Amino acid sequence: MNVPLLDLKLQYQSLKSELDAAVLRVSASQAFILGAEVDTFERNVAAYLGAKHAIGVSSGTDALLLALMALDLRPGDEVIVPTYSFFATAGVVSRLNAVPVFTDVDPVTFNIDPNDVKRKITARTKAIVPVHLYGQSADMAALMVIANAHGIPVIEDGAQAIGVQYKDGVKVGNFGAVGCFSFFPSKNLGAFGDAGLVTTNDDAMAERLRMLRVHGSKVKYYHQFVGGNFRIDALQAAVLDVKLPHLDRWSARRRENAALYTGLIASAGIPVRLPEAVYQGSGAVNHHIYNQFVIRVPRRDELKAYLASQGIGTEIYYPVPFHRQECFAALPSSTDAYPISDDAAATSLALPIFPELTEEQVRYVADTIIGFYRK
Ligand SMILES: *Cc1c(COP(=O)(O)O)cnc(C)c1O
Repeated sequence: MNVPLLDLKLQYQSLKSELDAAVLRVSASQAFILGAEVDTFERNVAAYLGAKHAIGVSSGTDALLLALMALDLRPGDEVIVPTYSFFATAGVVSRLNAVPVFTDVDPVTFNIDPNDVKRKITARTKAIVPVHLYGQSADMAALMVIANAHGIPVIEDGAQAIGVQYKDGVKVGNFGAVGCFSFFPSKNLGAFGDAGLVTTNDDAMAERLRMLRVHGSKVKYYHQFVGGNFRIDALQAAVLDVKLPHLDRWSARRRENAALYTGLIASAGIPVRLPEAVYQGSGAVNHHIYNQFVIRVPRRDELKAYLASQGIGTEIYYPVPFHRQECFAALPSSTDAYPISDDAAATSLALPIFPELTEEQVRYVADTIIGFYRK
């Protein structure tokens, strides 16, 4: 049996007529930059997230860059980030000539460790960037207490976590000064190319972000500050607006697949550490949307090769934490110890979890893993 890590064609087939109509509508209008399609999507996604402002941008990476630009970072300013995340989380800090300061992660959620954040704060700390990794919120209650005590703004990297509710039902992206999201095609809500979003509940911040998106101008050709071209395409907004109403249903399917994996693997008596959904506070909501379903296993690379030989696609998120990246070797915090992140990098493996997987496919993946450890 073949079980790819992700098959976007199945989702496309299920919405083909609506998606094709949206693409053709933009094509017929020949209006590609901002405009009505973007306005509509921004309104709908703001309502979905419960955020006052949602501003479409060119990618998740640019969302993070824009958010940090809005904080007016100076060269040498420090920004605290987890060492275990996608590269963009730290890359944007260096691009602004600021200094990424790494922290270790929580052993259960893989998210930034608030205690390590506390240890890494200095007089130069200008932002904290928690990542809601794999589709589960970071410990925002603890982080906001720390950040508020020091008056340090929080930028949420929610690239893998759109729609995740945290404890009292508020969605991620509403806790910090700015929430950042990615619509890279493989994310839970994926565009037909690159796209992203920033959210904020602060009117002044929203105006600043909107201006930075178009070279720091409010009135065309008059530039109050230096921004960039960070616009979302009208085409992407039209596609995303078709997909948005289906997001919660897709997340529920991911949770069903996760529950099935967990039931099958947990009872097998093999040395596999399963992901845990730790925030189950508000009613029926399980606060994990499984952008990735990541297990931790011994003999990880051997298992990955074996699964590939059996037709099963997997991926390692992430094999090299930031403190071990060549480009960050000279940073002071790269020489600190990050035992949890090092362990995660050596043992983690993401299994196929996308909504359209069949029960038969999930069972086949679980059985193949169990078979590998019983050999
Ligand atoms: C995908 C991702 C990004 C970057 O998003 P792009 O749209 O690919 O630029 C940033 N942070 C995290 C945690 C991501 O997973």
